[in-house]
Amino acid sequence: MSEGTPATPETTPDQPRRRVLLAKPRGYCAGVDRAVETVELALEKYGPPVYVRKEIVHNRHVVETLRERGAIFVEETDEVPEGALVVFSAHGVSPAVHEEARDRGLRTIDATCPLVTKVHQEAKRFARDDYDILLIGHEGHEEVEGTAGEAPEHIQLVDKAEDVDKVVVRDPAKVIWLSQTTLSVDETMERVGQLRERFPELQDPPSDDICYATQNRQVAVKAMAPECDLVLVVGSRNSSNSKRLVEVALQAGARDAHLVDYAHEVDEAWLAGVTTVGVTSGASVPDILVMQLLEWLAERGWADVEEITTANEKIAFALPRELRKDLVR
Ligand code: SF4
Repeated sequence: MSEGTPATPETTPDQPRRRVLLAKPRGYCAGVDRAVETVELALEKYGPPVYVRKEIVHNRHVVETLRERGAIFVEETDEVPEGALVVFSAHGVSPAVHEEARDRGLRTIDATCPLVTKVHQEAKRFARDDYDILLIGHEGHEEVEGTAGEAPEHIQLVDKAEDVDKVVVRDPAKVIWLSQTTLSVDETMERVGQLRERFPELQDPPSDDICYATQNRQVAVKAMAPECDLVLVVGSRNSSNSKRLVEVALQAGARDAHLVDYAHEVDEAWLAGVTTVGVTSGASVPDILVMQLLEWLAERGWADVEEITTANEKIAFALPRELRKDLVR
């Protein structure tokens, strides 16, 4: 046995059975899968370096792996040499970023998730119809910056409850709310309720902006949380949907919940007095990291794993057009 690996604890007959509940769906969504594959194929097809504006998806492991293969992550397009190839991340970019890339003669591949693009289209359409748009989302998040950039003069960001009182609209009969795709469904509806108290004629988006993957992962974690003493969410600190899973687990009855990038980040003190551990992962997390966490738990006596399935996802998105045209498959 390697140093630092604890012996599997003995379980006496009167001790409750230690077990792991594993949420399904968890991990990669269709938009992340497409974005990561886009960078991988761009590296294969055009060779390194391939520049990527911002983290392609919010996951440390994914970013580090792509960096090792020749991707160069930059914050802004002005860091990309003229004429080079740059991929835009799954979170989307504003029209100003597209324009800047054009001005600098960059070759671009847009890996924006089609479900983020859908929200951009809604923002453009309602701005064209002269609505005030209340965008519920987290200040500073890349997706929100991209969406707001579609119609800055029409969009106001509503993040926290206190932002509701700051909203100013021109015509209360022409107000609509839209949202970031990766929010907590319950918290968003709470914010909508608060906005509607101020603006009773507030219109709903034509279809859900919180995407299927975010919703499904929250439903799965809610189903298992009441039975869990501890929920471990695999995901990065800058991943909005992963952080929401921790909050949703706690709200749904888990006694404790934590976000970890890797199994080795789990603090063994969290396991004290724990019988049932719930495990899930954010939409940007490769399942290998979840499997490593399950192994880590098994080594400590939580070897019995039961999958809790609340939905089967079959959604897949076509690769970005700019890449597809160069690929012979
Ligand atoms: S979390 Fe949702 S919006 Fe974001 S990339 Fe995945 S499918 Fe697209």
